[in-house]
Amino acid sequence: MIIEIPTHSDFSIHNIPFGIFSTPTSSPRVGVAIGEHILDLVEVGNTGVFDFNLDVLNKSYLNAFIALGKSVTSGVRRSIQAWLQDDNGPLTAAMFVKQTDATMHMPIKVGDYTDFYSSIEHATNVGKLFRDPENALLPNWRHLPVGYHGRASSIVVSGTDIVRPKGQTRPDPEAPPVYGPCKLLDFELEMGFVIGKSSQLGQTITTAEAPDYIFGMVLFNDWSARDIQKWEYVPLGPFLGKSFASSVSPWVVTMDALMPFKVAGPKQEPEVLPYLQCSEDYNFDINLEVGLAPKGQAETIISRSNYKYMYWNQLQQLAHHTVNGCNVNIGDMMASGTISGKDEKSYGSLLEITFAGRQPLTLETGEERKFLQNGDELTLRGYAEKDGKRVGFGSVSGVILPSNS
Ligand code: MN
Repeated sequence: MIIEIPTHSDFSIHNIPFGIFSTPTSSPRVGVAIGEHILDLVEVGNTGVFDFNLDVLNKSYLNAFIALGKSVTSGVRRSIQAWLQDDNGPLTAAMFVKQTDATMHMPIKVGDYTDFYSSIEHATNVGKLFRDPENALLPNWRHLPVGYHGRASSIVVSGTDIVRPKGQTRPDPEAPPVYGPCKLLDFELEMGFVIGKSSQLGQTITTAEAPDYIFGMVLFNDWSARDIQKWEYVPLGPFLGKSFASSVSPWVVTMDALMPFKVAGPKQEPEVLPYLQCSEDYNFDINLEVGLAPKGQAETIISRSNYKYMYWNQLQQLAHHTVNGCNVNIGDMMASGTISGKDEKSYGSLLEITFAGRQPLTLETGEERKFLQNGDELTLRGYAEKDGKRVGFGSVSGVILPSNS
């Protein structure tokens, strides 16, 4: 092995995720996470081993590299796996930098961002909290993957501080609305997938074609201002309660790396329309956890969930997204919606964990939380593991800062 990879590393030889990094002496460029290091693909390219235009590696985003197509990018991944085990191959120790010496950047130039609502546990919990405990799911929910078009400009990379949004709320339904800092700031445990191939306006992508259009996945935190959201969302849906920020993990894990962790999804009842039916399984067994650390204090794990619980899979999401002829572009981000599991320890938002603030959560520090406070650091982590092979996402973190005055 050219480089030491710690056992249980998210970034094993089975992973090979792509990201954008810089160091004090190098501009943003494409790299691959391996153990505690980053392999500089510009340096690898300089040895002459790649037969594509090396400009795509010297970029601030992965989009141009992804645009080479899976026939190229999957080949790069397989070559790196082989070279890591070849002492006489093109890789040298000088091509690696320590992750602790690098700055990670937003990996994708996101053109359009869509957020789905595809966890039946989450949709049921929210329906019970806000509407009717007896009929928590709305009539459309089991027939189509509900979603909305989000804001791409405010998607930020892990480590970016999150300024508490200000806006209009109506805390007292008998009184006029008020303006000020959000009081009910929340996270949403989600995963996003990145479009790796563009479609044409008017074209629909079938569930059978969809895998070819999906490059890889990231952890995704859809920060949510519940008080702003609750007042504004009728009748057109989420707006400023969501658009102030979403955070993503810096390494894009390819679908190639995730294939060994493919599992069947939940049985869909009633049967879905033909355009939403899939001939292959496309759920993934990815363990997820959420950590909350008050400023300067230890972290408490406040939830453990799994991506495999998704009722609607990515193929169905993409088929539905394009069934009306809407085109998708390389770099578009499709988020899953909050991923909640079956019990209270697996809920993917504070809204659910604290029953809309009615049952505060006690952290290991003894502090209580209904929603996020200034100084809190919220971290999502995720990994898949099977037969001793681990493919992980690392983490996505953000610290809550007070509102701007
Ligand atoms: Mn969401």
